[in-house]
Amino acid sequence: MKLYIVGNWKMNFSVGEASVYLHKLQQKIRTSKEVGVIIAPPSIALQPLTLQLDPKKIKLASQNGNYHDFGAYTGEVSYTQLRGLVDYAIIGHSERRYLFCETDKDIRESVAAAIRNQIAPILCLGETEVERTFGETRDVLRDQLVGGLSQVAVEDLPKVMVAYEPVWAISTTTSAKIASPDDVSDAVQFLRQTLTDLYGATIAKKVPLLYGGSVKPANAGAYLTIPEVNGLLIGGASLIAEQFLGIIETAKRVAS
Ligand code: PEP
Repeated sequence: MKLYIVGNWKMNFSVGEASVYLHKLQQKIRTSKEVGVIIAPPSIALQPLTLQLDPKKIKLASQNGNYHDFGAYTGEVSYTQLRGLVDYAIIGHSERRYLFCETDKDIRESVAAAIRNQIAPILCLGETEVERTFGETRDVLRDQLVGGLSQVAVEDLPKVMVAYEPVWAISTTTSAKIASPDDVSDAVQFLRQTLTDLYGATIAKKVPLLYGGSVKPANAGAYLTIPEVNGLLIGGASLIAEQFLGIIETAKRVAS
């Protein structure tokens, strides 16, 4: 399967800075059939960036969306409004779940709304440190996966990507909190098995499983060579061109 490198810019860069950064990335990225590059800029930058985007090199994702199509939802942007601007949407990121109190219902409705609007969901899930300490990782992953996909028809499943992002391993420099390749391997194997139980092996193996949590050029290769890992979701390192490009180069080496 193709590998995917997804950069989540979170709430960083002005529109002008985003434009300069995209220009820099596009100059340096060489197209590859084996590695798909996706960036998720802040929503205010999405439309301007479409004017300079080379979709053969990079695809756009939203960082979020609202599942209602239109209406009295002050401050929100719907998947219907994002349709045509982005190919992908990050849904259920832990910052949305825990800082903005998005519920399981919001997430499953968002996955459905994205698909209905021809946007491929990147469904994020992962356990917190407390859940891990209490040995609840598999229960959390199963609940978040089954919940997030509960409105997805079998024929739509290959449009979905699933990103395993253990909350305790996001944006950390503490070495004890960096997820080991064994931690990631256990989780992605469990996710693949759960997808197989839900949808059957043929369809389940079409779903790219990504890993996210403090990925840097130095550890990207170790995660990308884990069987069942089909890509990476990157926060901090995606904001530094040299680091993001370094991870893309690693993915190309692993894929070839
Ligand atoms: C993220 O927030 O999705 C993420 C993986 O961030 P970081 O790479 O900074 O840990």
